[in-house]
Amino acid sequence: MSFKLAKTLFDSRLMIFLGLAAASFILVQVGYSVSERSQAYVEDSHWLDRTHENLSLIQSLYAAIKDAESAQRGFLLTGTSELEDEFFAAIPRVHGLVARLEQALADNPEQSERMRALKAATQSRLDIAMDILRRYREHGFDSAREEVSKSEGKRLMTEIAEISDVMQSEERRELAERNRSSENSLRRLQSQTILGILISGGLLLLVFAGILRENAQRRRAERTAGRINAQLEESVAQLRRAGTDTRELSQYAGMLQSCRSVDEALTVTADTFHRLLPAFGGSVFLLRPSRDLAERVLDWGEQALPSEAPVPTADCWALRRGQPHSVDDRDGDTHCAHAPRDPDHPAIAVCVPITAHGETIGFVYLSRAVTDADRDIPPEKRPPSRREIAAALVEQLALALSNLKLQDTLRSQSIRDSLTGLFNRRYLEESLQRELARCERRGRPLALLMLDVDHFKQFNDQHGHDGGDAVLSRFAQVLTAHSRHEDIACRYGGEEFTLILPEMPPDGGAARAEEIRAAVEAMVVDNNGRRLPPVTVSIGLSSYPSDGTDPSSLLRAADAALYRAKQSGRNRVVAAGPR
Ligand code: GH3
Ligand code: MG
Ligand code: MG
Repeated sequence: MSFKLAKTLFDSRLMIFLGLAAASFILVQVGYSVSERSQAYVEDSHWLDRTHENLSLIQSLYAAIKDAESAQRGFLLTGTSELEDEFFAAIPRVHGLVARLEQALADNPEQSERMRALKAATQSRLDIAMDILRRYREHGFDSAREEVSKSEGKRLMTEIAEISDVMQSEERRELAERNRSSENSLRRLQSQTILGILISGGLLLLVFAGILRENAQRRRAERTAGRINAQLEESVAQLRRAGTDTRELSQYAGMLQSCRSVDEALTVTADTFHRLLPAFGGSVFLLRPSRDLAERVLDWGEQALPSEAPVPTADCWALRRGQPHSVDDRDGDTHCAHAPRDPDHPAIAVCVPITAHGETIGFVYLSRAVTDADRDIPPEKRPPSRREIAAALVEQLALALSNLKLQDTLRSQSIRDSLTGLFNRRYLEESLQRELARCERRGRPLALLMLDVDHFKQFNDQHGHDGGDAVLSRFAQVLTAHSRHEDIACRYGGEEFTLILPEMPPDGGAARAEEIRAAVEAMVVDNNGRRLPPVTVSIGLSSYPSDGTDPSSLLRAADAALYRAKQSGRNRVVAAGPR
């Protein structure tokens, strides 16, 4: 994960944390305010109850005083004793109400002040009433009336009414004020709550968006990590493959160096290609000396699109252009004519020219089928092509083939005679020694023929050196034609030849010599459009072990037999042995 991505994730987490913290803080604040406001509301309602109670106490007190006053006045006018009773009954009620009101207003200094004035006026008014009643009882109605006119009863009643009015309006004012402030704080709480809910809701929305964004980022990061991981695995696999390729390639090169023949080199090639490119089948084509056709010399594996054989040079793009030619039927590439497109079997193929020291000597053709899995892979995601390793293998093969051909040439130059293509005398001596040892080990016989063209000096003189050469070269063909695979035909020198016949008994050797003699006699040679006269050959035959057990004694014995053949008239076969 990149540093930038990590920082972004950290930032968005920090934002989510801060958003949640702020939203929680606001909600706690809202809750706290609501709870505080409820508390205040409960207190307000207690207070309202008390104010209402105070109001009713003031009203009741005033009513009780009024009752007492009217009972006193009524009694004075009518003398009805029930009214006097009523007066006395009102007094304790007035006192009780005064006491309750004093207590209720104790926490309000102004109202307490008024209450004291009210209490004093009330008490005075009750004292006056008591005085009037006492006068009425002791001195009669007139004295009582006099007392009434003298007294301040009326003024006191007015004062009481005024004080109780002021007290009531004070209570009402406070009531109204309390209501107003309560309403205000309720309204404030309402707007605070709405604002708090809106802000915290907004914050929670932001947090939610942040969480969504973080999730998306995390998923993106996971996808990126997955992609990087896959790339890493692919690079590791590539490195591992490259390591294996290099190892195999150097092993292949080493093995090719030790190969002694083209066949060996081809066998090693098939094994290596099969191991390194197991999905591909392949063929090796080598150009004929005429260079117009390439011959198939090796096949391996299962080819999806086998090539025709032989391949005319012009049919292969790789041979024509001197560079690898790839074909992928998914891309509609151009096929070589020797492996034309087969719509039922789409294939991936490549032709790699075998070129060493600037000379193309053939090509390697590889092919495999396009599988369903191949088809599903988009072009940009295809695994890397294995063309490089194929080209590297072919390069090694080219070097090896050209070295082997060079070795073959040098070797054949050192052991073969250039005019006849037969082995030379040095090779004869080497192989006679070897074949003798082998026959000795196996307890088998060996026959040795020594052949010499009759009167060849004269032939040369009559038909020219050219004509002589033509005869020698034709003679060599006849000799080869009458040799088995294991026989070794050599030009011993000039017009003398030898033929080693391993495991051939003396009579078999004599029969073969006779066949050759007859064939040479019947031989027809044309030179420069001219038919040359027939030639004959004399042949001496020696056998192992009867005529000798080592190369020189056997050669001497054969030479002696040949001499005897010449002596006894030429054009004949003479076996060595006692005369
Ligand atoms: P004989 O029947 O006794 O063997 O007689 P001859 O003439 O064959 O004997 P001789 O060994 O005296 O002559 C060999 C001749 O072969 C001499 C030489 O001119 C000829 N000769 C040797 N090598 C070659 C060659 O490479 N090409 C040609 N054209 N002639 C050769
Ligand atoms: Mg000779
Ligand atoms: Mg001769």
